[in-house]
Amino acid sequence: MKSYHADERGYYGEFGGAFIPEMLYPNCEELRQNYLSIMEEPSFKEEFHQLLKDYVGRPTPLYFANRLSEKYNTKIYLKREDLCHTGAHKVNNTIGQILMAKKLGKNRIIAETGAGQHGVATATVCALMGIECIVYMGEIDIARQAPNVARMKMLGAEVRPATSGSKTLKDATNEAIRDWINNPVDTHYIIGSVVGPHPYPDMVARFQSVISEEIKSQLQEKEGREKPDYVVACVGGGSNAAGAFYHYLDTPDVGIIAVEAAGKGIHSGESAATSALGKVGIIHGSKTLLMQTQDGQITEPYSISAGLDYPGVGPMHAHLYTSGRGEFISITDDDAMKAGLELCKLEGIIPAIESSHALAIFEDRKFNPDDVVVVNLSGRGDKDLQNYIDYFKL
Ligand SMILES: *Cc1c(COP(=O)(O)O)cnc(C)c1O
Repeated sequence: MKSYHADERGYYGEFGGAFIPEMLYPNCEELRQNYLSIMEEPSFKEEFHQLLKDYVGRPTPLYFANRLSEKYNTKIYLKREDLCHTGAHKVNNTIGQILMAKKLGKNRIIAETGAGQHGVATATVCALMGIECIVYMGEIDIARQAPNVARMKMLGAEVRPATSGSKTLKDATNEAIRDWINNPVDTHYIIGSVVGPHPYPDMVARFQSVISEEIKSQLQEKEGREKPDYVVACVGGGSNAAGAFYHYLDTPDVGIIAVEAAGKGIHSGESAATSALGKVGIIHGSKTLLMQTQDGQITEPYSISAGLDYPGVGPMHAHLYTSGRGEFISITDDDAMKAGLELCKLEGIIPAIESSHALAIFEDRKFNPDDVVVVNLSGRGDKDLQNYIDYFKL
């Protein structure tokens, strides 16, 4: 049977692989050779699941959104990743990777961050384990994301500014890669989404797959079946979506809906609708779809939601898009903000603006009354309060 999971070389169809400088090869190779066997070790599994339970607060609820369902005349369930410790799904991955680093004998962690959410999730698990943590962040992002910079510092991480290029995420990533090349023995690089060279996309998807593992048993309990008709998730790099889709990828009767940020409109020049606008290229060591100019320069993405303005998507999603397995919908800033406020009023839940993109599909995408639609509510909106205040003049 055709599979939408990574093959052993880290390819999803034509996408993925490891396109890395030779000097990074030993680091990636060490991880590649060990990640699957480590994840299979009983002691690893036990510690991972114990921490997900006691520290993160899993399982997160699968909540039937009664009033939202009534309004859109279909059965909408919300997978409450917003209730995870630190406020989003990202910690599922950083818990997994810090345990991986320990098993590999690493005592120094580096990470890159754009909006700061992944930096905070990384600093959190480093504090938990008492491990040194250095987070690279573009100088412009440091200025834009002061609360997350403060959080990382409080958690004991060192935030190092990336001062080259556009001084944003891709420059921070370059700095992190340089650091890893210079410190191959003692350092593990925690990548924050299903992006980067093999084995990262597959490893991160496996750590996040706890989301769909829980959906299966929770839906069995509530609906008497493990399979929803549709699973919906927003896509930045694609990790919350990969986790929500994971156990349904090869189940064709479960529809997969990926929601991207259209910013001010797909063709406005200010967007992050990577699959709609992207072309095949290499970013962060992976062959995937990315937004680029005619001569292959990466285009600076835009979205009101800091977590979605990534210029590429992970290779799993590039393959879901080009193969037609996934349905891809782009949502503008305005529609996302409206849907976010609507969830507040209808369900008493303030969502992250990233997650609001996924919620916004119901306005145009119609479902049958007895369809079961699971929306992955990737994060809570506390971090976005200033954005909501400015937008709605609250
Ligand atoms: C970071 C983030 C995202 C986007 O990242 P993915 O890797 O695509 O999941 C989505 N929602 C929230 C709340 C985030 O913090």
